[in-house]
Amino acid sequence: MMQKVAWYAHEDAHEVSPGEDPLEENPIPGLLRFEGDEMVTAWHLDGIDTVIFDMDGTLIDSRYDWVAIREALEIEGHSIIDELNRLESPKREEKWELLRHFEHEASLTAEVKDGAVDLLAFLREKGVNTALVTNNSLDNVTFLLDRFNLAFDTVLTRDSGLYKPSGAPLLEVMRRLGVRPEQCMYVGDYLYDIQAGREAGCGTVCLVFDRRFCAEADISFSDLRALLSYLKRAPGPRESDTF
Ligand SMILES: [Mg+2]
Repeated sequence: MMQKVAWYAHEDAHEVSPGEDPLEENPIPGLLRFEGDEMVTAWHLDGIDTVIFDMDGTLIDSRYDWVAIREALEIEGHSIIDELNRLESPKREEKWELLRHFEHEASLTAEVKDGAVDLLAFLREKGVNTALVTNNSLDNVTFLLDRFNLAFDTVLTRDSGLYKPSGAPLLEVMRRLGVRPEQCMYVGDYLYDIQAGREAGCGTVCLVFDRRFCAEADISFSDLRALLSYLKRAPGPRESDTF
């Protein structure tokens, strides 16, 4: 089973040579270590057989101007979905249409994040389940996944009626895949992702790109390539039957 240690990945990572490891009493073979880390920690990923991803900002670079969008939608609260759902008709439908317009515009210029294709291919090769949980719409997600030729074992969008920061959408994909929360790693780029992952009881909650909330996540990586490198090198998955 998993053994928790915290681990932060930086671009200047290097593999620690024998004799250089401050945790010599109990070294972890193949674990990347980083200069300047006060507390270097790591997860063994034994038992993790499902990786669930957020989409925007995690796998896809969509360049939303959320400040301008919130202003146009006259949203003051934190959750745009909650705020729009509270409106009365016909304002509610009008604002939803406007949000869909912004989302479609962003998708036209979106790009796939560096490392996303390789990471998904690696997981597929290892027989690990992959899932996508996004607060974006089904139409937009279908458009983007087609455009970048990305595939998952299951995809859940806000059209399901379930959305983050609730853990409910994550629990729904676990139900579909027949896996337990402790078998899942959730990868996102924002506070809502951490909150949803925690609420769903995911074995590992992983944050990429956004360093503001690193302390709240189990593991943080500067980019998807660093995460892929960790998954390739982490001793747990390589020794486990399921990863
Ligand atoms: Mg995101």
